[in-house]
Amino acid sequence: MFGSIGDLIIPPRCLVCGSPQDLRYGLCGKCLSLIRSIPKPLCDLCGSPIGSPGICLTCQTHNPPFNRIISSVEYNGLIKEIIHAYKYRKATVFKKFLASLVLDSIYEEQVSFDILTFVPLHWTRMIQRGYNQSALITKEMAQRMRVQIRYDVIKKNMNTRAQVGLNRKDRRRNVRGSFTASNVHNKSVLVVDDVVTTGETASEIAQTLKNAGAKYVVFASVARAVS
Ligand SMILES: [Zn+2]
Ligand SMILES: [Zn+2]
Repeated sequence: MFGSIGDLIIPPRCLVCGSPQDLRYGLCGKCLSLIRSIPKPLCDLCGSPIGSPGICLTCQTHNPPFNRIISSVEYNGLIKEIIHAYKYRKATVFKKFLASLVLDSIYEEQVSFDILTFVPLHWTRMIQRGYNQSALITKEMAQRMRVQIRYDVIKKNMNTRAQVGLNRKDRRRNVRGSFTASNVHNKSVLVVDDVVTTGETASEIAQTLKNAGAKYVVFASVARAVS
């Protein structure tokens, strides 16, 4: 009798390769070792890797509206495949793992905030995809931090084309005016995203939040594109 119950308990295995060895966050040690952190030093504002500590040239020139972007890992190799599967092929089983990566960075950087929210999708894309990949990660984070997730803070009102393949200037132009924000007067807002590429979406959202009264806007993303 006990044997048959035991047979029903499936031992945890790596979500990527199926190995039961050395599991952390649902991935085995070998798969985790394929996911790289971003080479330091990083820009104090946008979080991109730079030659020496401080603020990068782009941030010095453009004075971005966000206060910080914190990304957990480099958008390359295995994590890129995982995020693709998670985002485009409904592999939502990875949401806990991705949330763990973001949470680690937030704790490490001791980020404090009043409002926890995420980068929204336009409703038409939400219908196509069936879920908002960033919202799922944020919900997971909220549960573990025992804080409320806010769904009503940022809205995407215009359906813009995907940012993939656009240069920095065109990316900003593409998303300009496409978001609105509810009143966040004097609040610190933490916005979660899956991937940060050039930070133009982050800039547009941060500007929208600042116009709505936010005093501090931090972005936390799972991964960051590093050229
Ligand atoms: Zn593995
Ligand atoms: Zn920078």
